[in-house]
Amino acid sequence: MLKKFLLDLLFPVECLGCRQEGAWLCASCFKKLRFGAPAYASSLAMPGLDKILMAGDYDDPLLAEAIKRFKYDLIIDLGPILGRFLTLFWQGQTALPGTPGLISPLIIPLPLSKKRFRFRGFNQAEILARELSAALGYPLNRDLERIKHQPPQAGLDADERHKNIRGAFAWKGADLQGRDIILLDDVMTTGATLSEAALILKTAGAGRIYGLVLAKG
Ligand SMILES: [Zn+2]
Repeated sequence: MLKKFLLDLLFPVECLGCRQEGAWLCASCFKKLRFGAPAYASSLAMPGLDKILMAGDYDDPLLAEAIKRFKYDLIIDLGPILGRFLTLFWQGQTALPGTPGLISPLIIPLPLSKKRFRFRGFNQAEILARELSAALGYPLNRDLERIKHQPPQAGLDADERHKNIRGAFAWKGADLQGRDIILLDDVMTTGATLSEAALILKTAGAGRIYGLVLAKG
C-alpha cells in the first residue's frame, strides 16, 4: 500500500483522454470510446469461428492508446476498464433481435506461452475475460494452453501466420460437447491465432464459438 501511495505520488494517474488526475480513463472519457460495428460472420479465412465481434475500432485514438498502455506499458489497471467496454459491447450485441442465446457458455481467454507470461506478468486476455465473466455470470475457463512459443507474427502475411501458429494450442479440459464458447483476446490482426485456438476447441466438442476482441489492429 505504501509502495502504491509513493508511486501515485511520483507518477500520478491521469486520464488518457483529458489528463485529469485520479483515473486512467475518467467516466466522461470512457463514454467517448466508440463501439465497433455489429458482429459479422466469420469468413473462410477464419475457420473454427462462428462469429468475430470487435468491440471497438483501432482508429479511435483513445481506445488505441488505452490498449497500447495496457498491453505494452503493462498498466494492468486499464484491464478492468477495457473489460467493461468489452462487456458493454457484448451486452449490446446480444440484445439485438434475432440473436440466438448461448448454450452453457464458457469464457476462454487466449493463453500466452509460459515465456511471454513470465515477461509480461499477466495475461491481458484473461484480465479482460475476468471482467466479462463477472458481469455475465458465465464461468471463466483456463484449460486452453499454449504449448508452443512463437516468434512474433508481425511482418508475416495471413498464410504464413496460419502456418506459424499451427500446433500452438492444446485443450487440457473436459469435453466441450454442447457448450458455446466466447473466445477472448485483446486485439486481432488476421485472426489466424483465434482461428487456430477455435479449431482446437471444436475438436474438443465445442458448439458455437464467438471470437471477441477489443479491436482489429
Ligand atoms: Zn478523461
